Amino acid sequence: MPSLDPALAERLGELSDLRHAGQVLAWDQQVMMPAEGAPARGEALATIRRMFHDLLVDPALGTLLAAAADAEPLIVRAVRRDHEIERRVPGELTAEMSRAGSDGYSTWLQARDANDYRVFEPALARNIELARRYADCFPECEHPYDALLDRYEPGTTAAQVSDLFVRLREGLVPLISQIAMQPARQALAGEFPVSAQREIGLEIVQTMGFDAGAWRLDDAVHPFAASPSPGDVRVTSRFDDHSLAGLFALLHEVGHGLYEHGVDGALARTTLDTGVSLGVHESQSRLWENLVGRSPAFWTYWLPRLRDRFPLSLRDVDLDAFIRAINVVRPTLIRVEADEVTYSLHVILRFELELALVEGSLDVAELPAAWAAKMKQFLGIEVPDDLHGVLQDIHWSEGIIGYFPTYAIGNVLAAQLWQAARADIPSLDDELARGEVGSLRVWLREKIHRHGRLLTPPELIEQAVGGRLDPVPMLDHLRAKYGALYEL
Ligand code: ZN
Repeated sequence: MPSLDPALAERLGELSDLRHAGQVLAWDQQVMMPAEGAPARGEALATIRRMFHDLLVDPALGTLLAAAADAEPLIVRAVRRDHEIERRVPGELTAEMSRAGSDGYSTWLQARDANDYRVFEPALARNIELARRYADCFPECEHPYDALLDRYEPGTTAAQVSDLFVRLREGLVPLISQIAMQPARQALAGEFPVSAQREIGLEIVQTMGFDAGAWRLDDAVHPFAASPSPGDVRVTSRFDDHSLAGLFALLHEVGHGLYEHGVDGALARTTLDTGVSLGVHESQSRLWENLVGRSPAFWTYWLPRLRDRFPLSLRDVDLDAFIRAINVVRPTLIRVEADEVTYSLHVILRFELELALVEGSLDVAELPAAWAAKMKQFLGIEVPDDLHGVLQDIHWSEGIIGYFPTYAIGNVLAAQLWQAARADIPSLDDELARGEVGSLRVWLREKIHRHGRLLTPPELIEQAVGGRLDPVPMLDHLRAKYGALYEL
């Protein structure tokens, strides 16, 4: 950044380097590290986080930012916001939240072993109380949940999410009940040896636009993407011999990785060379996974190649049958296994419950009953036990509250971007059917990736789709697609 004051640039460079180190250590922890390395790695990561915190809250940084405001107003605005938020939260509270988070995680594991929410309940109550204390540090927020949500989706409020989700829910619930009345469909079955899946997965990813020397693929139990820098993107996946789910997970994680890879080089070492929010990030992964990866156009090119790899399992599967089999909709209990249509309702359920917990209108003791009632209302199914209900996600155990909405925001935004990209690239389907994704990637880089954290999420969304978050494109897409697939 030539125009940035050298002393400020140096500070931002150090912050970026600490983030970089943290990303590499966290990636290594999940991909490479032998299990006994865990305690020392925990210490190392905590030290890096503390150093990051100390640098970020340093009043000298505030002074440099104040002096630089005119030179690089957007960079200064973003970093000043980080600086001010970090300064608001007392160190003791941060430490307490972190301890309660790791205790909560162990308690959650015990509760899962016992399949008993009562074991977990006190830990959850503690995390909720600490989340409220965190929110108290931001008295200017209209709702305490706003401060929690802002950690993951800056600039979006609980009221905006509530409004968005009510409209989304009102569209999804009737669509799902219509689909549920149709005869059940079979998901794709057969043998898909992992080594061949990895090969074709790599073949697909090679068309998607990473510079060959700027990324790598590894296995992880829970697939994720990390990005120490835009030139060092770490994608992980997990393949399984009996399903193609790992291929879709790969497309998902590559979507995250392409976002990080596409940030403008001019933002290097400013702390802005990364994704702006979890919702925007998830829009990138979902766009590739669902809107590209589950479309007939995409598989027009790739199905014959997939069939070459798995001749026995796919011999009698034509394009129509394949598309039906990778787009089965079925109300289920587990969020991470949910399909494109039902997924967002799992998220809305969690949002409504955590909002009520934070407000105090729902007591933690009543949570399983409230969960079951909403599952019945949204998806029409009964929750048999805590493991298939309130104990299924890790988030609340670690005190991660305000995060869930970003998953559904990602789905909503993915559909808005898809609609805008199709309008701008009339030949998109033809290109996908020829195995080409170049113009889509260029479009996404221009509208989303290159900006890094320079614009706020609402500004970024506004310039990309000409408006704010809107559930209509997603509902239109789902009604058209599944109306045809399920002959509704
Ligand atoms: Zn994701």
